[in-house]
Amino acid sequence: MYKETLLMMPGPVPMPETVRNAMTKQAINHRSKEFGDCYADIVKSLKPIFGTKNDMLVLSGSGTAGQEAAIGSFAKGKKIAALVNGKFGERLGLISKIYGETTMIESEWGHALNLEALKQELENGAEVVTLVHNETSAAILNPADEVGKLARKYDALFILDAITSIGGDTVKADEWGADVAIVGSQKCLAAPAGLAAVSVSQKAWDRLSENRPFYLDLKKAKKSADGNPMETPTTPAVPLFLALREACRLVEEEGLENRIARHHKMSAAVRAAGEAWGLSLVPQVDALHKPSNTVTGFFYPEGVEDAKIRGACKKMGIEFAGGQDRLKGKIFRIGNMGIIDTPEIIATVAAVQMCFKKAGYKLEGDGLSAAIDILS
Ligand SMILES: *Cc1c(COP(=O)(O)O)cnc(C)c1O
Repeated sequence: MYKETLLMMPGPVPMPETVRNAMTKQAINHRSKEFGDCYADIVKSLKPIFGTKNDMLVLSGSGTAGQEAAIGSFAKGKKIAALVNGKFGERLGLISKIYGETTMIESEWGHALNLEALKQELENGAEVVTLVHNETSAAILNPADEVGKLARKYDALFILDAITSIGGDTVKADEWGADVAIVGSQKCLAAPAGLAAVSVSQKAWDRLSENRPFYLDLKKAKKSADGNPMETPTTPAVPLFLALREACRLVEEEGLENRIARHHKMSAAVRAAGEAWGLSLVPQVDALHKPSNTVTGFFYPEGVEDAKIRGACKKMGIEFAGGQDRLKGKIFRIGNMGIIDTPEIIATVAAVQMCFKKAGYKLEGDGLSAAIDILS
C-alpha cells in the first residue's frame, strides 16, 4: 500500500509522528536514571488524566494485562461481583472466575447494567466489584460513579476498566471510588499497543491478596516503582514507555479538557450521521447509561452485509470495526479515539454513506450533512 490506512478503530489508533519516532531510539539500560525519569514523567502525566492521586504503575502488556494484574493482585480468593454488558465486562468476569468466587451479573450487550442484582451480591458479601466504564464492544458508557457509590457503601473494592475512556472522556477515579483504574496505551492515549497503566488506592493495598500472579504482581511493581530511579520488576518494553511518555506530553499540550471536548464533538457528529441515516444505536440509553463518546456503534439494517460495507470502506483506505462475538455481522463501530479530528470523521462518514449506496441500500437521509452541521 502506498498510502496509510486510516484506522477508525476503537484501538489501535493512528499515532502522532513524534510518538512513532520516540520508539526508534537505541536501547537503554532500564535500570538507569534515563528510564526512571521516563517512567516518572508518564506517572506524573497520567494521574490527572485518571483523576487520581493514588499510586500509578505501568505494566508491559496490553490492557488485559492490567485487568489480570488488578484481579490477581487484589481479588484473588475473594467473592467477586462482575458487571457484564459487553465483551470486556465479560472478560473481567472470566479472569475473576480464575482467581476468585465469581458471580457474573449479566445484561444483554449494550443494555443497562443490573444494579439491583449488584446490590444483592453486595448484601450477600461480595468483596470486589468489577466494571467496564466505556464498554467498547457495545459502544456504551456505563455509570461508574453509581457503581462506585454502591461498592463504597458496602465497603467492597472497586476495579474499574477505563481502558477506552481515560484520555478521551471524563474519568474521576478518586471521586468515583475506583480502587484500581486501568488504561491501555493503544486507545485514547494514541500510543502504541503493549502497555497498561493502573492506579491503586490505599484501600486496595490494605487488602492485597496472598499468592498473587508472578509477572503481574502489583505489589512487586510498586516496590520497583518506589525505587530511585523508578524501575519495573522485570525488563519493561522500553520503546513503548518512551512512546507513551511522548503521547502523554501531547495530551498535556492539547489540554485534557480540550481533548475530551474534541472526543465529545467527534462522537456527536458520528451519532448525528447515524440518526440521519435512520440507523439504530447499539447502546440502549437511559438515565444512567449513555452512548460512548469514544466509539459509536450502529446496527446494520436488515439485509445489509457487514463485509459489503466495511470491506468496501477498507478498500478505500478507511478501516473501522465490526461486532465481536454475538454482535458479529450485526453492528459496525466507528472509533474516534486519540487524535481523530474533523477531517477523519468527515472522510469516514462520507465513505460509509457511499458504501451503503454502492451496496444498493437506501439510507433515510444525508448523514454527511448532519455530521458537518455538528462539526462546523
Ligand atoms: C481494548 C480493551 C481492553 C483490552 O484489550 P487488549 O487487547 O488487551 O488491549 C479492555 N477493555 C476494554 C473496554 C477495551 O476496549
